[in-house]
Amino acid sequence: MKQYDGLALFSGGLDSILAARLLMEQSLRILCLHFFSPFFGHPQKLAHWSSIYGLDIEPVDVSEEYVDMLRNGPVYGFGSAMNPCVDCKILMMRRARQLLGEYGTRFLVSGEVLGQRPMSQRRDTLNIIRRDAGVKGLLLRPLCARLLDPTEAEESGLVDRSRLLAINGRGRKEQLALAGHFGISEIPTPGGGCLLTEKENTRQFWPVLRRLTRPCAADFRLAAVGRQFWHGDRWLSVGRSRFDNESYPPLLRPGDLLFKVAGFPGPLALGRGSRPWDAEAVQEAAALMASYSPKARQSGAEVSVRVTVDGETHCVSVLPRRETLFREPSWEEVSAELQILHKQSGRRAE
Ligand code: SF4
Repeated sequence: MKQYDGLALFSGGLDSILAARLLMEQSLRILCLHFFSPFFGHPQKLAHWSSIYGLDIEPVDVSEEYVDMLRNGPVYGFGSAMNPCVDCKILMMRRARQLLGEYGTRFLVSGEVLGQRPMSQRRDTLNIIRRDAGVKGLLLRPLCARLLDPTEAEESGLVDRSRLLAINGRGRKEQLALAGHFGISEIPTPGGGCLLTEKENTRQFWPVLRRLTRPCAADFRLAAVGRQFWHGDRWLSVGRSRFDNESYPPLLRPGDLLFKVAGFPGPLALGRGSRPWDAEAVQEAAALMASYSPKARQSGAEVSVRVTVDGETHCVSVLPRRETLFREPSWEEVSAELQILHKQSGRRAE
């Protein structure tokens, strides 16, 4: 197995690329860890990134522990949407620290820049992340290291501190110049594509967290597909495209309901809940999903919907309609619940 000196948290964003390359320029051997979950990460891009950025990258699946953190409630609260940035960083750092021994490595690296984001990259927050993750002395932030206390890797002489940087603030000029220095021509767009920072995705994910008894990563994967409707703790996901429809069968779990209009083209829909569905809920869900079949709706008559549960299929007759017991939670409702949590926690991430 190839030997490495340090493990770098690698999001695929420019700062994480530069942090690793800066240390590799000192002939240090760096292995990048790409964390992924239903909300962030692109493990399918690793081969491409590896070839264009000249990095060794390993995927790390943190889906279940991430959902545990969401279920328990992030200690430092949510950001402007459902993004628990401070707790997220602590979780990733902790996991990276656990992997240090496994790879025979001596320090951790992150591309954080002091003052780049209003909350999660403030000096006090960086210190909280370092403390709560138990990585004090181990975590090197090469892009702003000269503004921070020296780490063990610097004090021991393994890393030459004088060749590290003192970038501060939100500007990108220094990072772009550094990218030029390393010959990086494909500059990733800022933001990283975390679904939890988007209101529209939060509207889909939040009810899963609040209404299911014990949501798991597979539930959040389903919430990213199609359009989501809720009736209490009963959840109906209706496909919006062929891609959505093809996504449902592999996502099916025991007890799930798969709906399909008989005799008309239309979407698939997947029903799930923390307890078995009663006949009324099945009828209402069937009427709603059938309303997304234009031909079934235009027929003006009752249509038959096939409902399959654990391999057994039965049919229900419904008049396609949009007004049912199932509804899509609005951003305003979700946001109001998030605000209550912000007030309760008294803390807020960015
Ligand atoms: S935006 Fe926040 S929650 Fe999302 S991956 Fe980044 S740190 Fe984590």
